[in-house]
Amino acid sequence: MVTRYIYEQIKKDAESMCVELDWAIERRRTYLDNQIGHCKGKKKELFTYLANSNELEGELIIKGLNDWDKIIENYEIEKSLLKPNKNKNSNGITDEMIEKAKQYPIENLLPNPARRNMTNCVAHSPDKNPSMSIKNNYAYCFSCGFKGSVIDVAMKLNGTDFKSTVRELGG
Ligand SMILES: [Zn+2]
Repeated sequence: MVTRYIYEQIKKDAESMCVELDWAIERRRTYLDNQIGHCKGKKKELFTYLANSNELEGELIIKGLNDWDKIIENYEIEKSLLKPNKNKNSNGITDEMIEKAKQYPIENLLPNPARRNMTNCVAHSPDKNPSMSIKNNYAYCFSCGFKGSVIDVAMKLNGTDFKSTVRELGG
């Protein structure tokens, strides 16, 4: 859907321009409000011609009114999908914070350094012959099936919850 795309686009642009997503969303919402107000004004203006119009003019005016309605509706839909708190869960952890935390290298957390991307599993023990593979900062254990990001690994190692782990990893 177009509106979903717009959200993703704003998110991407906010990231690449290093601005807060909520701020960028608020800019877009303010713009949409202005556009909606502008369109409603135009619609109202057009409506005033209806009383003194002939049949043909009347048809064109009604078509024009419908067109303004469609434009306004599209703006309203986009606005309803661009909620500033959309990217925040109940813990106050944003997508940005999670993404930033995920950049923290798993290797820095490991008690024993990985060799050829393999290390002792953080989820089961004993794991004398290292079963946990680390690739692209993602862990997978070929013995117990544990898998996850650096956040999951840190939670296992430190016994911390998701929220504090994200914060500890710099998110
Ligand atoms: Zn394991």
